This record gives sequence, structure tokens and C-alpha cells, in this order.
Amino acid sequence: MDKLYMYINGEWQESASGERMEYFNPADQMTLGTIPRGNKVDVDHAVSAAKTTFEGSVWKEFKPHERGSILFEVARRIRENKNELARLETIDVGKPLAQSIADVEAAARYFEFYGGAADKLMGETIPIEDGMIDFTVREPIGITAHIIPWNYPIQITSRSTAAAIATGNTVVVKAAEQTPLTTMKIAEYFHDTDLPEGVFNVVTGLGNEAGARLSNHPDVNHITFTGSVPTGIKIMKAAADHVIPVTLELGGKSPNIVFADCDEEETLNGVIRSIIQNAGQTCSAGSRLLIEGAYKDEFLLLLKDRLEALTIGPGEEEHNIGPILSKEQYEKVISYVHQGRKEGEIVTGGNRVHIEGYEEGFYIQPTVIDKLTHDSEVAQEEIFGPVLTVFSFDTEKEAVQLANGTNYGLVTGIWTSHLGKAHRLADQIRAGQVFVNNYGAGGGIQMPFGGYKRSGFGREKGFEALKNYTQLKNVAIKYR
Ligand code: ADP
Ligand code: MG
Repeated sequence: MDKLYMYINGEWQESASGERMEYFNPADQMTLGTIPRGNKVDVDHAVSAAKTTFEGSVWKEFKPHERGSILFEVARRIRENKNELARLETIDVGKPLAQSIADVEAAARYFEFYGGAADKLMGETIPIEDGMIDFTVREPIGITAHIIPWNYPIQITSRSTAAAIATGNTVVVKAAEQTPLTTMKIAEYFHDTDLPEGVFNVVTGLGNEAGARLSNHPDVNHITFTGSVPTGIKIMKAAADHVIPVTLELGGKSPNIVFADCDEEETLNGVIRSIIQNAGQTCSAGSRLLIEGAYKDEFLLLLKDRLEALTIGPGEEEHNIGPILSKEQYEKVISYVHQGRKEGEIVTGGNRVHIEGYEEGFYIQPTVIDKLTHDSEVAQEEIFGPVLTVFSFDTEKEAVQLANGTNYGLVTGIWTSHLGKAHRLADQIRAGQVFVNNYGAGGGIQMPFGGYKRSGFGREKGFEALKNYTQLKNVAIKYR
């Protein structure tokens, strides 16, 4: 059993209350270890450390390229420990090892990308008049809070903290209570660098305790949150009390739009990968299939065969699909499946799978549901499991209407060999990312990522994310 500690002001800390809570391996629901159940006192301690460090001279005097060097050092440690980190992510989250390895690789690349960007964020000079110089400077925003969800802990911890540290902020992370392992490893790697104490802090505990205090704290200057819409709304309200900005990534109901003129093999692979990745517990999952009417029966038959050939089991055994995180998540997913069975027709899947030796784990067959009405809850709400709903269209206009016909707008995949058609659709799609003949572009470290509509706002990843963690100052100097 692993006993983890919070990381505050360069030290490993127990919670002030001494209370602890367990986290589990989704493969068999066995306890993996415990984390401190942090609360107000602990969060206040972490924010105070971050504030003292931000206001002190040591961190301020770090040159941008020196901040970058530290991020490169963390990336190096991640790469050195790639297999171990992937194993930890797999036992914690449940996902197949190959997916964890991809996540660890992406985490290293975030540290490298933002390490390299640290000394390349520039302002502008703006023409005013003769005898005056006007310029802008991007300054760190201060103490940034990072509230991490359980589904991609190493990637999400890395992408936002690397950008915040590159730009000279100090950070307080709230680890996901269900999956703390790799976030604490990142803390360990920072601990071994020359990063000043108090720049990188991690608190653990429950969302409505540690998380709520962090988002309510008057000294926090920015909140980055990835998670559910209801929690995102709470965080935005808490931020409003102190007039601070938030970056919210709140999930989706992202469609793959498939035309009869697509490359069938690539499309099948793309559609399948985007719904089974992390057993569908992915904000950007391709959870809706919109397919050209004349091609529907043929494509669905192929899809059904492929899905039925996939293997399901514990992530460490390298199956295609791992377990659902917890009983709570399982019950949520399976209730959508039951509703789908009642209101529509199950094309394939729809059942729990019992795996010998892992009877306590919650495994679900990849499931396709057809013949729903488009306004049904199953077709509109984020299920967060390997469940795909299917609709067909006859015209581009119908395809766009269906694609845009939910409250979400995170990602859209378009599959066609007609480039003009792809452009026409991309123009009309209301989503933060559009992929044509691929889904995800292999991770997309460099590409801005975030939502339209209720999928949130603000962008993470890429150069764009650096703007979240800076505020712009304009300086006008008269020299004549
Ligand atoms: P889920 O229900 O799938 O866990 P959440 O959006 O509730 O998704 O959780 C994402 C992250 O937000 C977790 O780190 C969780 O602890 C945190 N969280 C949950 N509730 C709150 C809250 N009221 N305030 C701040 N953070 C919260
Ligand atoms: Mg776990």
C-alpha cells in the first residue's frame, strides 16, 4: 500500500487533520494506497507558500530560460521513468498500458514544449507618435490553481502546470482524489530540481473540500479546471467572487461525421479509437457517429464486427479496452445503456463483462446504440463510457445540424476524400477543434484545445495556453 503525501513549500506533508482517504485500482477495485484528506488549513498553507514565493525575489530573478531548463529537467525524468509512470497510470486509472505510455510521452512533450517556450513569449511595440514608445509586456498572473480530473492525470497536470511555470507563476495543484499517483510523481521530479520551494505545490483531498477551498481562496489569481459542467459552473461562480479568470474544459459529445466517400479503413480505425480510448472516459471522445444515409448499413456492419473482435480486460494485460474507473461511473454509464435499449436499438455491446480474477472490476462492452431520437438524453448527454450513438444524414446541411445539435462543442471529426466538402463543413462546425481524416492529430501538444458552448472556454495546449497564465501590461513612454 502506497502512502502518499501532499507537496507544499518543498516538503511532503500530512493533512493538518491527519485524515486519509483511499484510492483504488479500477482493474479489480482493490485499494492501492491512501492520500491525505486535505482541507482548508492545508490549501491555505499551500496558497500561502505559493504567494510568498511569487512575491519574493528568488523566483522573480529566475531568468526565463532558467525556468525552461527546470521544465526540461522534469521532461527528462519523465522519459527516464516512462515505463514505471505508465504502469502507475494504468493501475490508477485502469487504461491499457499502451495508452498510458502515450500519455506519459505527451506529458514529457508538454514539459519540453513549454520549457522551450519559456524565453519566447514576446510583447509588441505599438506606434503612437513621434517621441513616444509604446510596448506591451506579458507578466505572470500570480498564483495559479490547477484542478485535475481523474481520467488523464499525468497529461493534464503536465500541460497546465508547465505553461504556468514557464511564464513565471507559482502553482497549486489539486490532484484528482481517485488517481493521485502520477501527479505526485511530477511533484517528486520537481523536488529534485533547483525549482525554488513554493513554486510547485500539490494538495490532495475531496473536490468539495480541498477543491472548493482552492477555488474560493482570495489569493488565487487564476483557475484552470478540467472536469464536469456542474463543477465547472461552481468554480466559475467561486472565481467571480474574486474577479479572477478561469480556463474551463468541460467535456463534450463530439461527433465523427462519416461520408460514403471516406477511406473506409482509416475511418473505421479513427471512429473506434476515439470511442474506446480510456474506455470512453475521455472529454474529447468521439461519442456520436453521424453517417451518410446510403452508407450506414454497410459501415455499421463493419463497425460491429471490429468492435466485437476487441479484447476487454485489465490495463496491465494490454487489452484494447480497460475497466471503468469505479462503481459510481459504471452505474452512470450502464443506466444510459439501459435507457438506450428502451428508447432505441443496441447494435452491439450493452453488457457488463466479467473477467476471471477481476470480478470486482467494472468492464463494459463497447456499445453502439441506433434509432434514438436526436433529442433523447442518451444522444445529448456526455456518457463517459464506451458508448456510441448513431444518426444518419443525407445532405451536408443535415450533417452540420446534427453535429452542432448538442450543448457541447469540443471536437469534431470529418471523414471524406472530398477536400472541398471537408472545408465547407469545418467552416460551419461549432467546436474548438476540427479534424479531417484523423481524430486528434496524434496528441496535439502544439494545437490549442478547448470548447465552444458548454464545453467551456479558454484554450489549453500550444502557444495559446501561455496567455492564460500571463496578463498584459502596456507601457507608454514619452522621451521628448
Ligand atoms: P467527476 O465527477 O467526474 O469526478 P468533477 O468535475 O466533479 O468530475 O471533478 C474534477 C475535479 O474537480 C476533481 O479534482 C474534483 O476533486 C474537483 N472538484 C469537484 N467538486 C469541486 C468543487 N466543488 N470545487 C472545486 N473542485 C471540485
Ligand atoms: Mg485509482
